[in-house]
Amino acid sequence: MRLVLVGPPGAGKGTQAQYIASNLSIPKISTGDIFRANVSGGTDLGKLAKTYMDRGDLVPDEVTIAMVRDRLSEDDAQDGFLLDGFPRNVAQAEILRDMLKDWGQALDLVLELVVDDDEVVRRLAGRRTCSQCGRIWHVEFDDKKDDKCDACGGALFQRDDDKEETVRHRLEVYQEQTAPLVSYYADEDILVGVDATGPVEEVTQRAMDAIRPFMG
Ligand code: ADP
Ligand code: ADP
Repeated sequence: MRLVLVGPPGAGKGTQAQYIASNLSIPKISTGDIFRANVSGGTDLGKLAKTYMDRGDLVPDEVTIAMVRDRLSEDDAQDGFLLDGFPRNVAQAEILRDMLKDWGQALDLVLELVVDDDEVVRRLAGRRTCSQCGRIWHVEFDDKKDDKCDACGGALFQRDDDKEETVRHRLEVYQEQTAPLVSYYADEDILVGVDATGPVEEVTQRAMDAIRPFMG
């Protein structure tokens, strides 16, 4: 299964990607996570990406695409993958399509996680991430009173780009650059919208129901 998750920042892509990828036994490939790992590791890629991420802008396509090409070339991605956060504009989508075609592959399905702006802002304002295992939590919805990860005990942190001003800009970037992907993939007949409101488990259930008809 070759799957893409689209949706605004805070829609729950990372949260759902954990469960969907594990249900389908495919690797979860999150460009945001790979960029953040490079930022923490102080690599050249991380230094470059950080200037864009801190502003809430997209990292240039050239850099992002090269990184995704490398990741998709790895052994574990040959029989399927779940992309979270890529593609994020039509140019990236076109290059992904051509790249897969060269390898005799194609996307099976694009899931759009649908939530309104108010909910997105609430979700991002309370988002916390585990510095050890990368799990995503929410201060209010997960009732997190301490700053420790319930899964591994690691320290939780708030992402720099989840500050209110940066969030506003990321939502504009989403509307301008990423939202056009919805009609792009609808035209290709591989888009399914999923209501991403309500409890996490219910959203996962809806996503799995949407995926099942596309499984070979
Ligand atoms: P969110 O989950 O809130 O949508 P991500 O973790 O996916 O955010 O991305 C964080 C940041 O990483 C983005 O704001 C952007 O700067 C960069 N980034 C992630 N994926 C891409 C991509 N496909 N193209 C360009 N920049 C990206
Ligand atoms: P994205 O990757 O799309 O930016 P995340 O998966 O990081 O989104 O989720 C953003 C925040 O919303 C996190 O704090 C997460 O715990 C929370 N969240 C995700 N799904 C739900 C849900 N169904 N209900 C309530 N909160 C959620």
